[in-house]
Amino acid sequence: MNEKIALVEDEPDLARLTAQALEQEGFRVSTYFDAAGFYRSLDKSLPDLILLDLMLPDADGLDVCRIIRRNETWQSIPVICVTAKGGETDRVLGLELGADDYVVKPIAYKELAARIRAVLRRGRAEAPPARLSIGDGAVEMDPERFEVRLAGKPLELTTTEFKLLYLLASKPGRVFTREQILDKIWGNEKIVLDRTVDVHIKNLREKLGEAARYLKNIRGVGYKVES
Ligand code: CA
Repeated sequence: MNEKIALVEDEPDLARLTAQALEQEGFRVSTYFDAAGFYRSLDKSLPDLILLDLMLPDADGLDVCRIIRRNETWQSIPVICVTAKGGETDRVLGLELGADDYVVKPIAYKELAARIRAVLRRGRAEAPPARLSIGDGAVEMDPERFEVRLAGKPLELTTTEFKLLYLLASKPGRVFTREQILDKIWGNEKIVLDRTVDVHIKNLREKLGEAARYLKNIRGVGYKVES
């Protein structure tokens, strides 16, 4: 819960009001005042949804939308465009470029929150968590049943270990930094330390035995699963 919204909006007052309104609706909000700052943030952690003003000081929001949709890591993040009144062309283009929805300024916050929830729900409905296989079936994960099989036999993992392995295995070959892992799995429990990730990985590796070779530590960066 407490989905993380990236708000990309260059007008400070509007950004503040929007962030406040969304926080009252129970979302976590990070605000970025230009496209450059927003892109930098995506390298560190991914939001659950992007609320994107189309008129930014350093970029055309439509280009930002296009770039998000073409990036392998970012493309599945839902985007809601914020357009000026009368910006009919922007709205159509935004949707054509892959935005999930749009809202028109001045923003009606209750409506915005409802649209955000609808888009997030849709995203979940369209993509039920997939079964995953690591190392050509050496490890099989069924996220709907929270079951793991190691060489065909049931393997007991804690919820955290399961989530951690599933996260890494869902993007084979991609390196996740400790910060990204913390953010994805522990969200806003700020008390969790970087070392926590290492401890869970260590436990996972022990349980995986032979198959631990697919779970790689990239020194100084983070972890990945090779498939
Ligand atoms: Ca603007």
